[in-house]
Amino acid sequence: MCGIAGVWDASKAAEQTFRLLHALQHRAQDFAGIATYDGNRSYWQRDDGLVSEVFGVRDRLDMLHGTTAIGHLRYPTVGDRPVEKNEKSPNMQPVRGVRGGKEFFLAHNGNLTNTEALLRRVRDRKNRIKTDMDSELIVRLIEQDERGFFTEALERALLRLKGSFSLLIMIEEALIAVRDPSGNRPLSVGWNDEHKFVAVASETCALDAVDAEHRHDVKAGTIEVFTRGSKAIPHVFSQPRLKRCAFEHPYYSHVTSDVFGRSVGEWRMRAGARLAEMYPVPGADIVVGVPDSGTTFANGWAAKGGSGSLSTSAVVKSGYAHRTFIARSQTLREEKVKLKFQYSRTALKGKVVVLLDDSIVRLTTMPEVVRRMRKAGAKEIHVRIAFPPIKHPCLYGIDTPNTDLLSAANLTHAEMLRKTGADSLEFLDLDSLHELLGDEPSTWCNACVTGDYWH
Ligand code: AMP
Repeated sequence: MCGIAGVWDASKAAEQTFRLLHALQHRAQDFAGIATYDGNRSYWQRDDGLVSEVFGVRDRLDMLHGTTAIGHLRYPTVGDRPVEKNEKSPNMQPVRGVRGGKEFFLAHNGNLTNTEALLRRVRDRKNRIKTDMDSELIVRLIEQDERGFFTEALERALLRLKGSFSLLIMIEEALIAVRDPSGNRPLSVGWNDEHKFVAVASETCALDAVDAEHRHDVKAGTIEVFTRGSKAIPHVFSQPRLKRCAFEHPYYSHVTSDVFGRSVGEWRMRAGARLAEMYPVPGADIVVGVPDSGTTFANGWAAKGGSGSLSTSAVVKSGYAHRTFIARSQTLREEKVKLKFQYSRTALKGKVVVLLDDSIVRLTTMPEVVRRMRKAGAKEIHVRIAFPPIKHPCLYGIDTPNTDLLSAANLTHAEMLRKTGADSLEFLDLDSLHELLGDEPSTWCNACVTGDYWH
């Protein structure tokens, strides 16, 4: 998954974008990049690492002059070619393009599903394609379309894309925000009233980080242009056919964000409560969430009067380990899960525990957590998962593995239970997921659960 952010008409655009990206770091941790424009020329920095590692070096941010900026966070996906030691990956964003002699930069969150067809449309692709990213294809299509204004070429390119895309584009001092007709990935616009600038980011938690008030979300199928001398009137380039990602609330988004007009934290509280209602554990002593996302589910469970008192000290996340799912090999992933959490004997010894988490993917995390809790003395462990079993890979930007590595696609419920080593294991069901999200079920993408791919 990725995170995107940008600012328009801010005195130090790069610094504000740094803050936005920093607040979105939970969305991706491997690469960070920022491009800016100062009225004369553009500046561009990208590297591997966390935002604070890439831009924490003071003069790196100082070199990014200007009042408009866009930024990107990325994690590597299966399509990335392996890079040699000491070699830099070309797969970083923003991606740079040149159209009619003018530079522009693009940052993309989501995943395109018709890359083969798009690739065939790129002229002289052998010389022009420089990365393994589907996002680059959008840039190359815009570059080669020389008719009319930039936004017209952009619109023609957008109409060729299939799949999921929330985009931020910077061309000279203009900032352009786009959301695909499915609205699959979020994109929110905010306004900092004190310093009078626009901020756009994947999630509202980032807007808070630059004191920008959330004004609205970019609508599905819409382009919004922030530029001098014209009001940002949203332009509909395609009628919406909503398929918003149902995994943003359970897992992906930050607990303090409002995504698709719904509070993530509040959603997680309600999902925890729903699990308590549906799969109670009579006689439980404590309720524990696997940090970070599981913590709020546990809160919701306890608040609903589900048995067991909330324990926030039984399993604690080490502040120095990063998300494990994105580790490049299974061995690394297992190693990282070992480092990720610390367990309290005092809190766990002799206890009947309810353990909540957001999802099971490869079944790497849960068996290790259960094993360590047992070692710390837990008597019984009852696992409750706030998302249905994931049986199909995501084609729209979440880097879930192929079907053969998805445990729910290959194991029966009893086998999964055995593999976790827990005393019981239950999942939120699809109907409850939809009911908790609200709106028509068909407006949500749940392809990872059902296999109903929409594009
Ligand atoms: P697994 O250990 O493979 O079963 O993955 C499930 C764990 O990884 C859960 O604790 C989730 O919080 C986390 N997780 C689920 N989906 C993702 C994802 N797409 N990227 C990163 N982490 C994830």
